[in-house]
Amino acid sequence: MKSEYMILSMIIPGPSSPGKDIDVYLQPLIAELKELWETGMETYDANSNQTFQLCAALLWTISDFPAYAMLSGWSTKGRKACQTCNHGTCSQYLKHSRKMCYMGHRAFLPPDHPFQRDKKSFDGKEDHRSAPTPLSGTEVLEELREFNNIFGKGQKRKCRDSESPWKKRSIFFELPYWEHNKLRHNLDVIHIEKNICDSLLGTLLDVTGKSKDHVNSRYDLQEMGIRKELQPVQDDDGRVHLAKACFSMKPAEKKLFCTVLKNAKLPKGSVSNISRCVEVDEMKISDNDIGPSNGIPDVDVDLRWSREDVPGDVIDMPTHDQHSEYMEEDMDTSEEDEDFDDVD
Ligand SMILES: [Zn+2]
Repeated sequence: MKSEYMILSMIIPGPSSPGKDIDVYLQPLIAELKELWETGMETYDANSNQTFQLCAALLWTISDFPAYAMLSGWSTKGRKACQTCNHGTCSQYLKHSRKMCYMGHRAFLPPDHPFQRDKKSFDGKEDHRSAPTPLSGTEVLEELREFNNIFGKGQKRKCRDSESPWKKRSIFFELPYWEHNKLRHNLDVIHIEKNICDSLLGTLLDVTGKSKDHVNSRYDLQEMGIRKELQPVQDDDGRVHLAKACFSMKPAEKKLFCTVLKNAKLPKGSVSNISRCVEVDEMKISDNDIGPSNGIPDVDVDLRWSREDVPGDVIDMPTHDQHSEYMEEDMDTSEEDEDFDDVD
């Protein structure tokens, strides 16, 4: 979209995020949108040299994951963090890693996919569920019929006591057509992709603090009774030993891995200049050299592949359109750079 076709409709002043109180700020915008839908606005058409009544409707919102909760009213924290899976969100609390984990993505595979019977590669169980159905606008309104919206900072605690993932009835439902919009909220996946990429690289290169394969996650494996070969083993002296994971690399292999990334030629526009971030000798990928000084808050690495790129016998990728199977992993709540481990 070209900038000349965009209209900045409002700025909400900081320094802190309005959170679910964003609806208070959105009131003037919603009032104008209602007017645009119901009566329209007299507009000049230069082509026919006439004026006409221009009507408009809001199609959907596009936001990052934290703002998704602010706009939709469905909390993106806790057991039911996914609005697509809504009340059927598959979640598990990992007590050693002390975080909520969202698995159960096999539900999005086509029926009779071999992964559904594969216990070993997943959580030790078969999973034959079918994909959950997103709630329609009418269903949302029905659920929230009795809901009493409370705005204001002092009210936070009161709302938090509630088990319901709904934190408010979104102001967008004041638009007469909103409940009939099939897709009301979209995710801008830029930070989700960055976080996933960070975690993947951190785990592969075994970067302390960034790797997802740590002693607590090994204890979680033990707790779940899966991946026996990776579970911690205590010797007679009481020392705990962790077996190397199948993806762990020796220093020479890490160097080779970094060299490949350093020299990678990637399509223009699909990835930032990753070679600037690769430190081959240090065997790490950092984002220090493109920090806030040039206005880019962080490196956004977009390493994606399409179904066509992957040989059929390697992996059969799910084809669910609107649902990123990695979405639930992005529990980043405030800072882009912050990891999303600390979920309350
Ligand atoms: Zn989901």
